[in-house]
Amino acid sequence: MKLVKTIEEVRQIVKEWRKQGLTVGLVPTMGYLHEGHQSLIRKSVEQNDRTVVSIFVNPIQFGPNEDLASYPRDIKRDMALVDETCGDLIFNPEPNEMYPSHFTTSVQTTEVTELLCGARRPVHFGGVCTVVSKLFHIVAPDRAYFGQKDAQQLAVIRRMVRDLNFDIEIVACPIVREADGLAKSSRNTYLNPQERIAARVLSQSLKLGLEQIEKGERDCKKIIQTITEHLQTEPLAKVDYVEIVDNENIQRVDRIQKEVLVAIAVYIGKTRLIDNFIYKCED
Ligand code: AMP
Repeated sequence: MKLVKTIEEVRQIVKEWRKQGLTVGLVPTMGYLHEGHQSLIRKSVEQNDRTVVSIFVNPIQFGPNEDLASYPRDIKRDMALVDETCGDLIFNPEPNEMYPSHFTTSVQTTEVTELLCGARRPVHFGGVCTVVSKLFHIVAPDRAYFGQKDAQQLAVIRRMVRDLNFDIEIVACPIVREADGLAKSSRNTYLNPQERIAARVLSQSLKLGLEQIEKGERDCKKIIQTITEHLQTEPLAKVDYVEIVDNENIQRVDRIQKEVLVAIAVYIGKTRLIDNFIYKCED
């Protein structure tokens, strides 16, 4: 396993692989890796001859009052985890390698970014699309791996790939959770012990919503109410949103139909956590 910091080095290595006829998978991350990231790396290792893991805390996807400066970083630990998971190459650029001075081009999507996190974090998805486009051009992988944990991000990337004709297969990977149901996230490290216990309310409330749907409820308002009311039972939780949208275009739906995304964002203390599930309706 090798770590490189420049675009030039990645291009050289991938070029050599291509000469040998090898396939390449890309796993874009912001580092501070955990089992969620490792599940993506494992999937890529299974499906490709070589796997590149990018580790880059992308400054342009953070808003002015967000946690760019405090975002956890530990490249040594990340290297060990990528190695353990059999990734081949880490691309860990410095911000000025990705964004030299006078960087003025960006990639934006509409529609899929109107609601949920897109509505609350206005610069976020533009930053994500721009960095992911750059990574796609730098690595030129056959496949790229994204977690269902960030469901709106997945919809946005799929749309971008379709709209801009990237010849890359997007592979979605299921949410990896802690034993008590909390979705694994680098941001969970911000939680103090009391908040960590309180954070269980996210997955618990989604479970109640899912059970209600499985019993036949199709009215989204009622399901949203169930989830919201349960979240409100936790004194340390402050609901940011509870929404049910079409999983492809991320637009609101009134009734459970086709494939819906039930998504929540909740502050536990100062930490904003997200979680979701997808329901495929057979009716
Ligand atoms: P991040 O480093 O948080 O930007 O995440 C990098 C990738 O890992 C994204 O595609 C995430 O959706 C994915 N990911 C993060 N946490 C999880 C998780 N608990 N389960 C599955 N995928 C995850």
